[in-house]
Amino acid sequence: MDPQQARIVIVGAGQAGARAAEALRAAGHRGPVSLIGEEEHPPYERPQLSKAILIDRVSNPVLVLQHQQWSDLDVALHTSSRVVAADLQRRVVGLANGEELAFDRLLLTTGTRVRRLPELDNGPLPVRYLRCMNDALALRQELQPGRRIALIGGGVVGLEVASAAIGRGCQVTIIEKAKGLLSQIGSGSLGQYLHRLHASKGAKIVCDAVAKRSTSRGLELDDGSFVPADLALAGVGVEPVTELAQQLGLDSQHGIRVASSGATHADGIFAAGDVAEQWSRSHDRWMRIENWANAQNQAIATAKSMTNLATAYDAPSWFWSDQYDANIQVVGNPAGGEEIVRGDVGAGRFVTISVRDGEVVGGITVNSARDMAVLRRLVASCKPVRKSELENPALELKRLLAA
Ligand SMILES: Cc1cc2nc3c(=O)[nH]c(=O)nc-3n(C[C@H](O)[C@H](O)[C@H](O)COP(=O)(O)OP(=O)(O)OC[C@H]3O[C@@H](n4cnc5c(N)ncnc54)[C@H](O)[C@@H]3O)c2cc1C
Repeated sequence: MDPQQARIVIVGAGQAGARAAEALRAAGHRGPVSLIGEEEHPPYERPQLSKAILIDRVSNPVLVLQHQQWSDLDVALHTSSRVVAADLQRRVVGLANGEELAFDRLLLTTGTRVRRLPELDNGPLPVRYLRCMNDALALRQELQPGRRIALIGGGVVGLEVASAAIGRGCQVTIIEKAKGLLSQIGSGSLGQYLHRLHASKGAKIVCDAVAKRSTSRGLELDDGSFVPADLALAGVGVEPVTELAQQLGLDSQHGIRVASSGATHADGIFAAGDVAEQWSRSHDRWMRIENWANAQNQAIATAKSMTNLATAYDAPSWFWSDQYDANIQVVGNPAGGEEIVRGDVGAGRFVTISVRDGEVVGGITVNSARDMAVLRRLVASCKPVRKSELENPALELKRLLAA
């Protein structure tokens, strides 16, 4: 069959699914394309959920594509439709309403779901999670001035909600299991900076502690202390949504394992975005990359390979976070090498560069977005660098690219 005429079904109408559908048409795919999402909303930008949506009172969610664009692209968008079954032999997916859709090629962009805290879920203190638009709209109603909010987890989502909650006049306590904030990034300098930033805005920060039990007045921690709270928000990581992949017999223990083309080991079945487990050169291991840029760009590359255009996706991971008026960006694997700090951590404007075997494997910019453009190119290029040059504050980073 002409691959350009293949029937393509995409399950998961988030960033990855939406961008893949658009990219299929851009690559000249002429066959039917169906995009199926269980949420009632058309695909929208998820990063706004812990930022603009929580901060602003008006809700005008930013969509990935406008309504009209789906019909212009001739993509059949099914919202409020959950795919509950997938059959490799018959090459069909089954919807919760009993309908079946046949495919020649299938793309799984089912993303992740939040990791829950069962020990707190049924306790007397309300515990919220933040993953989808409806979560964000509901949480916004609850962030009222004077309310005491306990944020469980000092990762990106927890810290962004902390900044939004403080902006809305709440009293915030951040509870983090590790010794410092955003410890998964592996940068002491960033951890110190964030601690100072959040404390200076009025957040209480409790590290090295785990919420053990809730009462109607707050949370008991495992170090014996008590955090008074009216509401808790847990941001303790996510898990890949792999039930369909399991039904299809795909390798999906830690995410759906894909080659650099986005292909799984099953003929005509692909995966992209947060749910895909791919090889990361900067981390030197298989991993899921849970960020917006990967969801978009890996999905676009996968769409191209679904139309038989040879593509290999190998971009270093990159994400940003906005907290108060600070902008933090991370590329590659900052924990993967020796960290060199340029700028002034105390003044809140600095860059870290991580070097392993003479190559830049990761970096962070804090309020220095222009340097991130250079860092991303340095990580992607694998160019040999000299530590002495990186340590020289007088040397402009971009000179290293030209060298
Ligand atoms: C609050 C928040 C803030 C974020 N902020 C940033 C940021 O600042 N910077 C950044 O780089 N990244 C950020 N991210 C991460 C980024 O948004 C994600 O990496 C990206 O949205 C992943 O896209 P995806 O399409 O792979 O998965 P998702 O966006 O999770 O989409 C998957 C979709 O598939 C649907 N689905 C799953 N199973 C089925 C099924 N069986 N049938 C039908 N539909 C199904 C889900 O309901 C979901 O809508 C943030 C994420 C969150 C939650």
